[in-house]
Amino acid sequence: VRRNPGEAEFHQAVREVLESLGPVVSKRPEYGEMGIIPRICEPNKQIIFKVNWQDDRGRVHTNRGFRVQFNSALGPYKGGLRFHPSVYLGIIKFLGFEQIFKNALTGMPIGGGKGGSDFDPKGKSDNEIMRFCQSFMTELAGHIGHDIDVPAGDIGVGTREIGYMFGQYKKLTGRYESGVLTGKGLDWGGSRARTEATGYGTVFFAEEMLKLTGESFDGKKVVVSGSGNVALYALEKVNQLGGTVVAMSDSSGYIVDEKGIDLAQMQELKETRRGRIGEYAEANASARFVPQGMIWDVPCEIALPCATQNELNIGGARALIANGCTLVAEGANMPSTPDAIRAFRANDVRFAPGKAANAGGVATSALEMQQNASRDSWSFEHTEERLHDIMVGIHERCWATAEEYGAPGDYVLGANIAGFIRMADTMMALGVI
Ligand code: NDP
Repeated sequence: VRRNPGEAEFHQAVREVLESLGPVVSKRPEYGEMGIIPRICEPNKQIIFKVNWQDDRGRVHTNRGFRVQFNSALGPYKGGLRFHPSVYLGIIKFLGFEQIFKNALTGMPIGGGKGGSDFDPKGKSDNEIMRFCQSFMTELAGHIGHDIDVPAGDIGVGTREIGYMFGQYKKLTGRYESGVLTGKGLDWGGSRARTEATGYGTVFFAEEMLKLTGESFDGKKVVVSGSGNVALYALEKVNQLGGTVVAMSDSSGYIVDEKGIDLAQMQELKETRRGRIGEYAEANASARFVPQGMIWDVPCEIALPCATQNELNIGGARALIANGCTLVAEGANMPSTPDAIRAFRANDVRFAPGKAANAGGVATSALEMQQNASRDSWSFEHTEERLHDIMVGIHERCWATAEEYGAPGDYVLGANIAGFIRMADTMMALGVI
């Protein structure tokens, strides 16, 4: 805490991982001797830069940009860029730290990193977004590359923003280096199923959890928080598997529709018009909008938090438990607070942490890198099948590791230990560098 002052989210993420590692460190004392834990907690590089950009009226604004290159033992740094006013170093470091373990869990050759800016894309014109992305990339370009560091999207960064950044990178370097960013459009090197991957992957992971008790999504009531990239495609996959999503949210509040939220309407509202969630209720008599309310008050059997960190606190956990929720799988990064997770454990609510359940996004980004490297383009079905296999594999790894370390069903412990062992063994093999 003294070494990283004021970085509350980073402390929270590190504490959660370290709390799980006791059994593995006592079993493998060489990890301690080789200083693996302090080495994992310290980013390899932290780049902070100024981003000046001009709005449509010609006024100049200054934002702060970040790229934290956390660990590259397993491959090039890999992780998204977040544009949101809440971004500061502590958020980027927590996300980068989580990313190391998540990427290790996928079994793919990708290191961990994260970046972003305190720029607020809300209410900005398309031209303002473009100018900001170009300025951001002007500063970042010298630090990334397909063998060095491969950023992607996150909150506030989708295909449009990746496009403007890719265009600027191409202009600055004079190279068509497809593999330098993932989350690209399908016409210019993107992968089919990448847009859907995080949401689909979260639902695939939850499906594996349900299978253990002979259950499925069929007929289940589901609450999905958020209404961005992850939430929309979680909604789609839940629908495909026969479940009903009865509530979704954004930062203005939540909507409830017991008939089930309509995907096409929600896509049009959020992806095309970039509107507010209350507009869904204005257009649907069966839906109601609750401004600034807590979405976890809506009764459900399965909860998928897909918005942002610490959105599901102890109050939310208690409400879910009281209403009979039996499974929580995190589509977002660290959406549940530590006391919420303790409450789930104490009440036998099956709980999947984001670093396992939402790893489908980065895994499919790694598939995009493979396609770029071979100048290939796979079908949607093939890519989705690979994603499904990867999620089944991550679930198995977490489950088996938790059992091996005497905590059957504890996906937090399973994910942290399984990710850590792959990292630690690789760092040992590469020596003290
Ligand atoms: P988007 O920007 O597409 O959507 C974010 C959603 O969350 C929006 O509905 C937004 O509402 C809501 N939200 C964001 N911040 C807050 C807040 N402070 N309070 C309430 N609601 C908020 O982002 P993504 O869907 O891509 O990301 C969602 C989560 O999933 C993040 O935690 C991200 O790190 C994680 N994730 C994303 C991956 C991806 O592939 N995209 C991969 C793995 C994890 P509003 O529009 O009102 O701000």
